[in-house]
Amino acid sequence: MEPNGTLRIAIQKTGRLSEGSLSLLRQMGLRFETYRDRLFAQCQEMPIDILFLRDDDIPEYVQDGIADLGIVGSNVLDESQKRVERILPLDFGFCSLSIAAPEQSGFTSIRDLNGKRIATSYPETLRRYLAMEKLTADVVLLKGCVEIAPALRVADAICDLVATGSTLRTNRLTVLSTLSRCQAMLIGTIGASEEKRALIEKLLLRARGVQEARKYKYIMFNAPKEALPSIKELVPGCKSPTVVPLATPGFIAVHSVVLEETFWDVVESIRACGGSGILVSPIEKFIR
Ligand code: ATP
Ligand code: MG
Repeated sequence: MEPNGTLRIAIQKTGRLSEGSLSLLRQMGLRFETYRDRLFAQCQEMPIDILFLRDDDIPEYVQDGIADLGIVGSNVLDESQKRVERILPLDFGFCSLSIAAPEQSGFTSIRDLNGKRIATSYPETLRRYLAMEKLTADVVLLKGCVEIAPALRVADAICDLVATGSTLRTNRLTVLSTLSRCQAMLIGTIGASEEKRALIEKLLLRARGVQEARKYKYIMFNAPKEALPSIKELVPGCKSPTVVPLATPGFIAVHSVVLEETFWDVVESIRACGGSGILVSPIEKFIR
């Protein structure tokens, strides 16, 4: 924290993590203005400044305490090897760092790449992986547009980030191996002061509240009273579901939360127990 007591949070200025980072900070109750080319924003009502940076610079800024917190892809962290605390995986910016080769190359495994050239923007991560796999290959460093390297005969294969795989398909490349699964990560300076920790803990509670909320849906439905034991199993909620009698005798209304990923299975089971009038809504914050 600066002498004036302000906490600094570094996020990507423009790119794939910008929107997710901004929306997380806003959902955490931070109020600040952004516009194009802005490098810095002060939060209203809280002693927090937001720094907008190139993502590659964020680990170093956080390591050196120029920023106290940062949001950056775990791939950038792995590559930079800076000493920072990995505080919280943020459940967005999912992708993987993979080795891919041209479909026509005849390569079917990374073993086929021994002695070949691999183009990447992640040389350190790739070198560590090759050493672990006991492979030798020339690492060709490219800052961008890695996927066209094989077509330009600059390399025999590539090591790059893959999300949907559409870029690989367009360039007729096929994945041979995945080095790591990546996502956006909240990082912090190691050894933050007591004063800083207090504000960071406060922000963490909020970040977790936002993350939890995204995983769950609020669910309300009517059911026959005798189905309650099964319903308690299906939608246990935090402690137990809220149960309210309906004006129609023998019926109850149930309120609870349900995990998004099991949502449709739970709905089918609720219907099988006689549940009806099922209402579902998103949850904005969820503090356990
Ligand atoms: P900067 O100008 O800040 O250096 P960049 O071009 O290095 O930006 P982006 O392409 O905006 O970076 O990607 C930022 C991060 O988004 C990546 O480091 C990665 O963690 C994540 N990401 C998620 N999906 C993808 C994808 N399909 N391709 C690349 N990165 C992705
Ligand atoms: Mg970058």
